Amino acid sequence: MENEREILVDPTKDGLFTIPGKDFSSDDEVRWGKRRMDSVRVSQYSDPYCGLPNCYDKTGAYLCAGTKDGMSSPCNKREGNECLIRKGSLTNPNFQSCAFWEVKNAGDMEGRYSPDGRLDDERIGFGETKNKEGFGCRNCEYYRPMPKADSEGRKGWCALKGHTVLDTACCWDNDPIDEYKTDVSKERRNAANMSLAELKDKLSKQENKR
Ligand code: SF4
Ligand code: SF4
Repeated sequence: MENEREILVDPTKDGLFTIPGKDFSSDDEVRWGKRRMDSVRVSQYSDPYCGLPNCYDKTGAYLCAGTKDGMSSPCNKREGNECLIRKGSLTNPNFQSCAFWEVKNAGDMEGRYSPDGRLDDERIGFGETKNKEGFGCRNCEYYRPMPKADSEGRKGWCALKGHTVLDTACCWDNDPIDEYKTDVSKERRNAANMSLAELKDKLSKQENKR
């Protein structure tokens, strides 16, 4: 028997969800909220209103050791250059992270995984960025500025998953932009209404001119 339930549909272009206009309705927010719930479950998305509170970094960095200037929290699962759940040492912890980052919290003790139980990088979505400010939606390839914040203050749009996001939220699917605060990055942000393909084309033409 067919599984009877509605499938949510929203416009896409070049494989990504297009940014909504500024006249969105509460029904739109309900639909995005439903997708955001999937993001929480499937991709570990969290912000102050949804997901695991300990997995939200209010500074939006999500780095194993925090930022080098000490402005962001290190991960609760880090002990020196060891991650308590990952195979191998951390080689560059001010620039590395994974999908299981947690805020440092003296009241939340951590268990060290057994040597055989350690997880590999693919399993935890481990990666590295060149950006000293770390990861976060605001530094993700799929982030687009919204024409207007949603009713909970989310000013960003996730073109990959079709829901509004907080600039400082993050998820497993983060694809980091390394050139934060450079002209290239600004260009990406200002091009809110461009598809990723159009944007990449524009950027590559600019880079060829240099
Ligand atoms: S690899 Fe993940 S869980 Fe381990 S210290 Fe880094 S952010 Fe935390
Ligand atoms: S913008 Fe990037 S980091 Fe944020 S929810 Fe979307 S894919 Fe994840």
